[in-house]
Amino acid sequence: MKKMGPYPPYYEANNGQIIISGRSIESIIREAGATPLFVYSRDILSKKMDELRVAMPNRLDIHYAMKANSYKPVLEYMRDIVDGFDLASGGELDQAIDAGVDPKNMSFAGPGKRDSELEKAIKTGVTLNIESPTEADRVIAIAASLGIRAKAALRVNPSFDLKGSGMKMGGGAKQFGMDEDLIAPTARKIIESGNFWCGFHIYAGSQSLSADAIIETQSKSFELAARLANEIGVTPKTVNLGGGFGIPYFHNEVPIDIKSIGAAMDRILSNLPEILQDTKFCIELGRYLVGEAGIYLTTIVDRKISHGETFLVVDGGLHHQLAASGNFGTVIRRNYPIAVADNFVKSSYAEVDSEIVNVVGCLCTPLDMLGDKVLLPKTCVGDAIILFCAGAYGATASPSNFLGHGQAIETLI
Ligand SMILES: *Cc1c(COP(=O)(O)O)cnc(C)c1O
Repeated sequence: MKKMGPYPPYYEANNGQIIISGRSIESIIREAGATPLFVYSRDILSKKMDELRVAMPNRLDIHYAMKANSYKPVLEYMRDIVDGFDLASGGELDQAIDAGVDPKNMSFAGPGKRDSELEKAIKTGVTLNIESPTEADRVIAIAASLGIRAKAALRVNPSFDLKGSGMKMGGGAKQFGMDEDLIAPTARKIIESGNFWCGFHIYAGSQSLSADAIIETQSKSFELAARLANEIGVTPKTVNLGGGFGIPYFHNEVPIDIKSIGAAMDRILSNLPEILQDTKFCIELGRYLVGEAGIYLTTIVDRKISHGETFLVVDGGLHHQLAASGNFGTVIRRNYPIAVADNFVKSSYAEVDSEIVNVVGCLCTPLDMLGDKVLLPKTCVGDAIILFCAGAYGATASPSNFLGHGQAIETLI
């Protein structure tokens, strides 16, 4: 048997039936019409934000990195509970506008912005997080041709990274942002061109579960922002401190201690250097806000035995859940939390008739595995399987065209 990650604490069961926003899985599937199905919960989205607001200083804005989940009803819901949206493409800009997000609360990062994307962002008043001196030149030229002042922040490639993070986005040679020594000259150029230089974007990594590592990175980010601002000689209007808050996906992982992160942030914000006194600070989070608020539901299509192992073949797979299959930037494949929808056993399997199974998807590749030798209550064909932690980088980051099964249905309840 191989262990799975912990169940997110937000899910309750009634007689073994998982209940989401007061609804049974059976009724949710009936209403949506079919599986595979992503179900996102408004209650959990709100709970996560409430917990975060309580832990973080009031002065700190919280932005949503929409690449984690761009389902329109989720965007519309997040629009009303966060302070800003971070985008990574012109397509996301369209989606955010379509969901009613005010462009003045949007910032746009990404290492390869095309002229058409820059133009759209400048026209709509989105803050650009500029990733290179040549991108700055293009922004200056496009703004001049449009006769509009661009809002331009500079993305820094910090010389440090977020320790222990799942994906490093800073420290050493990187395609993201500009090395620290390029920042001041580029900021001056933007200011001299008459455009609005609005600050820094410092993003050092993702999926960290260590409060200490996050605190260390944030304190380095504050120092870096102060040093660069002094070099430029202008107070930045905003500093985006990045994020990197992770969620537990795997066995032995525990939630990050956001209270201690908030307390450290509070200490720094109460002792800011002169040049940052009037600066607005924000963090940008994706998976932390939406990851645990979503589940991925599939139905068992077949059950078979091979060389003594039991395989449950479900109607979904890695084409919707690349990360859970272990193929989205992980070195060793480990099990996400997974459960049987109408036989949810939160702690002890001793009370139910259970078995060790492989939960596999319907694609013709051995990579398509959602549960590797997991212990689950006994099931039959037709039963629904729940994969947790599916609210982020599921539908947005999986190859749904692969093998032609099509996209999963999504619903927000
Ligand atoms: C992807 C990304 C995020 C969100 O990352 P999470 O791990 O989902 O919180 C935030 N900022 C930037 C610049 C990103 O590229």
